[in-house]
Amino acid sequence: MKALEIKIDKNLCKGCGICVDVCPKNTLESSNEVNEYALFYPRVRDLDSCIVCRLCELYCPDFAIEVKEK
Ligand code: SF4
Ligand code: SF4
Repeated sequence: MKALEIKIDKNLCKGCGICVDVCPKNTLESSNEVNEYALFYPRVRDLDSCIVCRLCELYCPDFAIEVKEK
């Protein structure tokens, strides 16, 4: 399975980095961009590497990340 898009709602994100840590494919990475609360939110490093396992969605405590399947 491949991802069409990974949406990160930066202002819901608290910058915990859990999604980056749980992703088995290193699809996500920390960014140096901050949201409106001055928290560093993640970004997509390599969309094609995503296998749509949805661990990032499951573990995100703030429902800030959504993976759309192709
Ligand atoms: S769905 Fe799985 S592979 Fe894709 S970004 Fe989330 S944790 Fe990584
Ligand atoms: S797990 Fe959710 S709240 Fe934590 S960094 Fe990722 S998107 Fe942000």
